[in-house]
Amino acid sequence: MCSICGGEYSVRTPVDYGFLYHLCPHCGSQPHEELDKEFAELYRRLDEAEDRSKKGRSA
Ligand SMILES: [Zn+2]
Repeated sequence: MCSICGGEYSVRTPVDYGFLYHLCPHCGSQPHEELDKEFAELYRRLDEAEDRSKKGRSA
């Protein structure tokens, strides 16, 4: 596992107002396949949440 980002593909730099996130200089950008998987999962969860809220309103 990468010792810079710990496999997260991003590193954070402390700044006055919090943290800045950068792509890991060692790993570079996250593989698109991985990103696509994450987005697919995210959208699936959003859809589920939307379904739940719709059911909640109609019930
Ligand atoms: Zn890294």
